[in-house]
Amino acid sequence: MPFALGTARARIGKIVYGVYPLIEHPTGGTETIPVVLARGRKDGPCCWLTAGIHGNEHSGLQVLHELLTPALLRELRGTLCVLPALNPAGLRITARAAYYPGGDPNRLWPSGQPAPKPDLDRPPPSALERAYARLFEEIRGGADALVDLHNAWIGSVSFVFRDRVLYRKDGKGAWSQAGAERLSARLGEMCAAYGHAVVNEYPAKKYLGEKLQRSTSGAALNTARIPALTMELGGGEMPDPAIKRAAQAGIRNILRWQGLLSGPREAIGGIPAIDPGFPCRRRSVARVDGPAVVTHLKEPGERVKKGEPLVLLRDIWGRPLKPRILTSEYDGWIVGRSHGIVYYPGTAAYVMAIRDDEPLVAPYPKSYFKA
Ligand SMILES: [Zn+2]
Repeated sequence: MPFALGTARARIGKIVYGVYPLIEHPTGGTETIPVVLARGRKDGPCCWLTAGIHGNEHSGLQVLHELLTPALLRELRGTLCVLPALNPAGLRITARAAYYPGGDPNRLWPSGQPAPKPDLDRPPPSALERAYARLFEEIRGGADALVDLHNAWIGSVSFVFRDRVLYRKDGKGAWSQAGAERLSARLGEMCAAYGHAVVNEYPAKKYLGEKLQRSTSGAALNTARIPALTMELGGGEMPDPAIKRAAQAGIRNILRWQGLLSGPREAIGGIPAIDPGFPCRRRSVARVDGPAVVTHLKEPGERVKKGEPLVLLRDIWGRPLKPRILTSEYDGWIVGRSHGIVYYPGTAAYVMAIRDDEPLVAPYPKSYFKA
């Protein structure tokens, strides 16, 4: 049975184009997402490459357009399922979310939990959530690995978010602790193949609290048990050429790791190579506790030692505040700076990668699968 998605039917040795129906507009007409299927002449695994679930993050779209070349198709074994614009409504208006109900689209994929009892005082799942649930069954049935492309902050480093793999204490096979460890080990290989900096997602409890198991890669990994990563390709609305090239080389390396391409691994160049020698996770740091104009003293990619100055604080007239400087509480490196320099209280000046001593696999809470 050849692979098909929406109106696109994969054909041996061809790149084919189609659409997947997403939602019906109340004004008439259907929202569709573009689908590109590339099938090699030889059989092999299937990799899904997705982008644009956040409509103001444009690098992934172009990374995928430029990745799919006749030369890549000639070498390909198996199938690439490419969805370059998962949230067309957000893309139209350069906004993170769609302009119809649903909230952050990257928190709408199935959680694996039983459906909650209907609550008459709350709306049922939105049209977009239901559409992604339907599309998710195609991922579950058809993908052997998934790469989801995003952007982070202006000037931020190209990096990968590596999710924790959760397991059921009473789980069998892929859902057992041993199964989760096998899946996490494959995820580690996939990160190594990509070759960009790696930042582990929040520890399990916070990960679930932030609904990150319902992100595109989080759901593919934790609900469908497929190796999946979120790539962050620098700032959002203007693709960085060096990061695009490094992402394309990294994705081809993932396809080699998976067996869709052959040949030696490509070197990843043109972006900062960051390896502090210890695993890192994300943390927002240098939070101002009053209104402040902030001078960032560190650049994305810079190593930071505990106690080093991170930001200088002034009031709007230019007078030094107390404290004048915020220093780092952690060893690690700077992933990116928050947008802007004029902060309300509570704003963090950077996202940093700090030492991660938390386990990469962890059990779901007991109550997670209770209806
Ligand atoms: Zn994003």
